[in-house]
Amino acid sequence: MGAPPQLTPEERANALAKAKFSRQVRAGVKLRIKNQDLSIAQVLEIARDDDAIAKMRVFELVESVPGMGKIRAKALLERLSISLTRRIQGLGRHQVDSLIREFDLPTGVAKGRLVVLSGPGGVGKSTVAKALKISSPFFVSISATTRAPRFNEVEGVDYHFYTHEQFDQAISRGEFLEWAEFAGNRYGTPRKAVEDALREGQSVLLEIEITGARQVKEKVPEALLVFLEPPTWEELVSRLEGRGTDSPERRAARLALAQEEMAAASFFDKVLINEEVEKVVASLIEFASAD
Ligand code: 5GP
Repeated sequence: MGAPPQLTPEERANALAKAKFSRQVRAGVKLRIKNQDLSIAQVLEIARDDDAIAKMRVFELVESVPGMGKIRAKALLERLSISLTRRIQGLGRHQVDSLIREFDLPTGVAKGRLVVLSGPGGVGKSTVAKALKISSPFFVSISATTRAPRFNEVEGVDYHFYTHEQFDQAISRGEFLEWAEFAGNRYGTPRKAVEDALREGQSVLLEIEITGARQVKEKVPEALLVFLEPPTWEELVSRLEGRGTDSPERRAARLALAQEEMAAASFFDKVLINEEVEKVVASLIEFASAD
């Protein structure tokens, strides 16, 4: 390698100004990612024509995603076999695809809508989800759980029943769109099936508890969050107490949780009262088709 070229003062000033401008562009991109105003896929697209963004380190980009931070960003890049010093312009096609898959649900191009049905345990979410599955083209996501199957539940139909080790592995491989602990067990939404359905234009229903619903809203701001309320508190209590499939301790724990959960309704986009399953189903279908 020869000696670096000697720059005139004017050339040096120009180079410095250019570098400063590039830094500003990159800072702007990071801020917009943080504010969820730009997606990773959009940045990768813009980088094709923008030299300043093409030279940005992938680590910086990923780190700016809300909820990511340095440690998770590092773990993610290691998992995707992307070096921490790699710049966007140096990414291979597979690495670009895996990054896009990791962060982006294809909602922009998909006709399908992501609808999240949540609400206190015992309110009747799973009955609504079953009815919706039968009576509409909705894709109803099948969650993974570490809970033991109830006597009437079938693997792959009601849940994917995982051991704790399987669940840990799925978390570390980034296979869940969201996951949460509920009444001593873990529950998670497998990301791939949801993404595939949305990509094909199907509307998707997630029937999940409240902390999971919040996570989905953070990752997919355009998801519609629907809170299902019981007609009265007494009705919810009698439903939880009448659940023959749970032990008395489990029922008491669920009742206490339900009380907390009822307070979360204001966070949701829509509230539906579960008076008649058919009406709730009709409202969900209507929400999915509205712009
Ligand atoms: P259960 O054990 O009664 O089937 O479900 C307990 C709670 O877990 C319910 O409120 C149900 O909506 C919720 N749940 C089921 N699947 C998921 C999931 O994938 N993620 C989250 N966050 N909650 C789930």
